[in-house]
Amino acid sequence: MAEKPCQCSDCQRFYEEHDRLIREFPTFKQQKELNWASIQSFRTLCSQVTNELQRQLSENEFNEDLSSEEKHISDTEISETLDELECVNAYLYSIEALMERIFDTKISNHIESKFKKIANELSPDPLNIDRLVLNRLFHQTPDFPDKKNIN
Ligand SMILES: [Zn+2]
Repeated sequence: MAEKPCQCSDCQRFYEEHDRLIREFPTFKQQKELNWASIQSFRTLCSQVTNELQRQLSENEFNEDLSSEEKHISDTEISETLDELECVNAYLYSIEALMERIFDTKISNHIESKFKKIANELSPDPLNIDRLVLNRLFHQTPDFPDKKNIN
């Protein structure tokens, strides 16, 4: 028997998000753009927070008179976070370089149709009637992990 995928709430959220991204971005071009935008927004946010933390750290060195809002993050916490964010930014930069290679790949409209067709099979609209019936059947299956836990 094939092993069932984990059904914890984090994994379920992941499956839902995974399926939603296939459903809403069903072509090669859309996936490329989605992932590019996602990496860029992650990088933008991380580097802005990094700049802000660096500014705060250098201000702390010269200024004892801080607002209570800024005081609740200690210099140690800021320094440690800066080290971690530097690594994250380096990794994101590497992913971006790899994504540029993916961006060089162009595919024809015929193949894009194939992408759409398969996306629709992998991740049909969850409110589609066929999908609702299928889900109901799935939840009635006796070996569904949730039911196994109850018995
Ligand atoms: Zn899990």
